[in-house]
Amino acid sequence: MVQPLGNLFIVAAPSGAGKSSLINALLESAPQHNLLNPPELSVSHTTRQAREGEIDGVHYNFVSVDVFKQMIQQDAFYEHAEVFGNFYGTSKAAISDKLDQGVDVFLDIDWQGARQIKTISPEVISIFILPPSIAILEERLIGRGKDSADVIKKRMSQAKDEMSHAAEFDYILINDNFEETLKQLANIVLDKSLRADKQRTRNATLLETLL
Ligand code: GDP
Ligand code: ADP
Ligand code: 5GP
Repeated sequence: MVQPLGNLFIVAAPSGAGKSSLINALLESAPQHNLLNPPELSVSHTTRQAREGEIDGVHYNFVSVDVFKQMIQQDAFYEHAEVFGNFYGTSKAAISDKLDQGVDVFLDIDWQGARQIKTISPEVISIFILPPSIAILEERLIGRGKDSADVIKKRMSQAKDEMSHAAEFDYILINDNFEETLKQLANIVLDKSLRADKQRTRNATLLETLL
């Protein structure tokens, strides 16, 4: 099978570790980090309620449990999982065309989804984000101000479980200083797009002339 020009990245972390902020900052700052092309985020489907400020089709495709189950039946998902009592899934449509066009695609998904995708597409690059401490993780969840005390409690109790899968990932980043972690993330993306197999595809005409 011909590998697409774009790379597929999975970023996972316990809730509140900073993965959404890091991915969004990377997407906005691709030129500053000298990335060859701006990466894009795959928009997941979820059955959870939209948080204040979340836009359907931008942050998630918000769907009912019935629609989600229909999509499973239709084999529309690349992977899906139940996280914190809601369904989340990455649709096939969200990624394959982009990768073929040479766009690097980011998936913000949990460890269960990461494991499913690693099995289907071993070339995926997986990155796990850890907080500098449990206390800081809780501070960030509270500071984000988007979840109720109950939801935060549930997420904190699952944090250890999520983090226990960190070693299954290709890279582990500790998100202490945000700008430093962002640079580390950008370095991984740039490194992967400069690999010989990608450069051979991207610069096929030049290589033909030179070699
Ligand atoms: P966050 O923890 O604040 O980012 O909260 P979210 O509600 O955005 O995400 C909840 C959980 O669902 C996280 O563990 C995500 O990694 C996971 N998640 C989000 N999208 C997907 C997806 O498409 N597939 C899978 N498997 N997990 C996802
Ligand atoms: P996740 O997507 O992993 O649940 P978020 O990106 O929503 O996490 O981050 C949780 C909160 O922590 C947000 O309010 C974010 O602004 C803040 N945050 C993220 N990274 C850092 C950091 N390195 N230092 C301080 N605050 C951070
Ligand atoms: P939140 O409800 O805070 O947006 O997300 C909770 C968790 O679900 C996060 O850890 C997030 O990464 C994960 N998640 C979001 N979308 C998906 C998805 O499409 N598939 C899987 N497996 N997990 C997801």
